[in-house]
Amino acid sequence: MAVPEEGSVVETGDQAAPVGWVERTAFDYTAMAEAETAATWDGNARVYQWKDEYGDVGPAFEELEVELFGDPESRRDRQTGLDFSKIEQIEVIQEGPQRIEYIKTFADAGIHPVMLRNIELCGYEVPTPIQKFTIPAILQGYDVIGVAQTGSGKTAAYLIPILSKLMGKAKKLGAPRPNPARFQEGVDNVIAEPLVVVVVPTRELAVQIFNEARKLCYRSMLRPCVVYGGVPVREQGGLLSRGCDILIGTPGRLKDFIGRPEVLSLRRLKYMIIDEADEMLNDDWESELQAILSGAEQDVGNVYYGLFSATFPKAARDLAKKYLCDSHVRFRVGRAGSTTENIKQMIVEVSREGKNETLLTLLEEMNGVRTIIFVNSRQAADTLDDFLFNMKLPVTSIHSDRTQVEREAAMRAFRSGQAPILVATGVTARGIDVRNVMHVINYDLPSIEYGGIEEYTHRIGRTGRIGHRGVATSFFTERDEPLASVLTRTLLETNQDIPDFLQAYIPENWSSGTKVKFETESDFDPNDVAGAGEGCGDEGGGWNTADNVQGDSGGGWGNSGGNDANEAANASGGGWGADAAQPAAGAGW
Ligand code: ADP
Ligand code: MG
Repeated sequence: MAVPEEGSVVETGDQAAPVGWVERTAFDYTAMAEAETAATWDGNARVYQWKDEYGDVGPAFEELEVELFGDPESRRDRQTGLDFSKIEQIEVIQEGPQRIEYIKTFADAGIHPVMLRNIELCGYEVPTPIQKFTIPAILQGYDVIGVAQTGSGKTAAYLIPILSKLMGKAKKLGAPRPNPARFQEGVDNVIAEPLVVVVVPTRELAVQIFNEARKLCYRSMLRPCVVYGGVPVREQGGLLSRGCDILIGTPGRLKDFIGRPEVLSLRRLKYMIIDEADEMLNDDWESELQAILSGAEQDVGNVYYGLFSATFPKAARDLAKKYLCDSHVRFRVGRAGSTTENIKQMIVEVSREGKNETLLTLLEEMNGVRTIIFVNSRQAADTLDDFLFNMKLPVTSIHSDRTQVEREAAMRAFRSGQAPILVATGVTARGIDVRNVMHVINYDLPSIEYGGIEEYTHRIGRTGRIGHRGVATSFFTERDEPLASVLTRTLLETNQDIPDFLQAYIPENWSSGTKVKFETESDFDPNDVAGAGEGCGDEGGGWNTADNVQGDSGGGWGNSGGNDANEAANASGGGWGADAAQPAAGAGW
C-alpha cells in the first residue's frame, strides 16, 4: 500500500490474506527515506570493472555473473514455456532505399565473441523478428526505426549491435578513464564522454535498460551509467565522473547534465537511441529532446540514430523525419500498434460503482499471479491501493507524485513478489518488463484524449511478453463508448472473443477470417500513407516506400496492416500475416 497510517501494522491471524495471495506488507516509506544512502538507488548497481591490463576480454567474476544473469540452475529453466509460434507468423515489413539481409541466428550475425557469450548468458537462443533485422542494419551503419509489439525484445535489438560494434573499438573511441582500483574522488574524476546515449520517458524504464546494458557489457571495457530524476544530481554526477560509455537517461535529467559540461560532454557520441520514440516525440518533451539531440558538443552529422516503439502514430512519424534522414531503414513487425496474440483480451461491461466488486472477483478468480492494475489518475491509484490493502491483498502502487525512494521500493516489491499486485497510472509503466506478469487489468480504460488505443496497447503489453502468455481484462463503462469501435477492431485483429455489448461495433463487411480495417476515425489513421513522397533527401526514402522483403504484401506505416496478402492469410484462420513466411522455415521464430 502507499504511505501507511502512523502506527499501522500488518495484522495476522484472522486477518489472513484472501485465498491464493501472500500476506500483504505495509511499506514504511518514511523509514526508507530516512535510511536513504547512495546504495539505495537502483541506478547505483554494480557494473563490470574494467582494468587496463585485461587485454581484449576481461575475466569472469562469478559473483557479478550470478547477480546479473541469475544462478546457473535458474538459467537452465528460464526458457521453458515460451510460445513463439504466434510471433513466428508475423510478417516483417522493411522500408527505405536499402535492403537488409536478415540474420537467422545470433551466431551468423558477425557479433563480437564477448557479446555472443553475454547473449548466451542472458538465455537468448534465437533472435526475435525485430532483432533479426535491426542487428545487421545497425552493424552495417544505418539509422534505424524499429516498430514491433510490446515484449518483442526491442531493447536488445539496439543494444546488441551497438555494444558489439563498440566492443572492438572501445579502446580507440572511448574516453580515458580512471583505474577503478585506485579511484580517488575529487582527484581522478573525468568528464563523462559517452559513445551511446539512450533516451527513455520514465525512470523505471531507464533503470531497466541500464540493467540490460550491465548484462550485455559484461567482461568488456564498456561502462554503462544511468541518470534519472528524483535522485540527487551530485550522486549521479559522482558515478559519471568515473567514466561512462553508455549513458541511459530520462530527458529532464539528461538535459540537466548537458547543462554541466564539466560533468558530461557528448563530443564522442556515436549512437543516439530514442526508446518509446512516439512518446518521446510528444510536444511535452520538445525542449529536453532538442537539448539532448544537439546541445552537447556532439558532431551531429556523425551520430547514428535509432528510434523504437510498439506504436508509431502519424504525428510521431512526421517528427521523426526531422531527425532521421536519407538512408535510414525502417522495420515494422506487423501493423504498427498491433498487439500480440499471446495476450488474451477480455472486456467486461461494468458500472462505475461496480468496479471495485468486479475487481475483487477477478483477483479471487486469478489469485496469486503477478497482476498490474491500471487507473487513469494518481488520486485513483492511491484510493485503489488503500481499498485493496484494506481487503488484505498484497498490493503496492506507483505513480509520478511518489518520491523516487517510494517508486523504486514499489517496483522492487512487485518484481520480487512481495507485493504481487501493482496499481499504476499508465505513464509509469511504459516499457516495463517484469517477468511473469500474468494479468493486466484496466480498471479504467484510457480515454481517447489520454492516449486512447495506443495507451491500451502499451498497457496490456506488460503481459504476454516474449512468447509468454497473459490475460488482459478491461472494465468498460458507458464513458468508454468513444473507444468502442477501435477497441473492437483491435480485438478482432488478434482473434479475440467479442462480448455482446461490443458486437454492434464489428464492421459491417467483416466476417470471420477477413482482415480488420482501421479507418480514419481511429487513432491509427490508416488511410494516411505516412507522408507520401516526403522522404528525406532524394534517395527515395519516403515513408511510403513499403517493401515487404519476405511476404509479397506492401502497406505503409499507418496502413491497416491489411492488404491483399493479409486478407488471404486471415482467410486461412491463422491470424493476420500468417502466410508471410517470416522467417524462413526452421529459423526458430
Ligand atoms: P520490448 O522493448 O519490445 O517491449 P524488451 O526489450 O523489454 O521488449 O524485452 C522483453 C523481454 O524479452 C526481456 O525480458 C528480454 O530480456 C527478453 N528478450 C529479449 N531478446 C530475447 C531473445 N532473443 N530471446 C529470448 N528473450 C529475449
Ligand atoms: Mg521496450
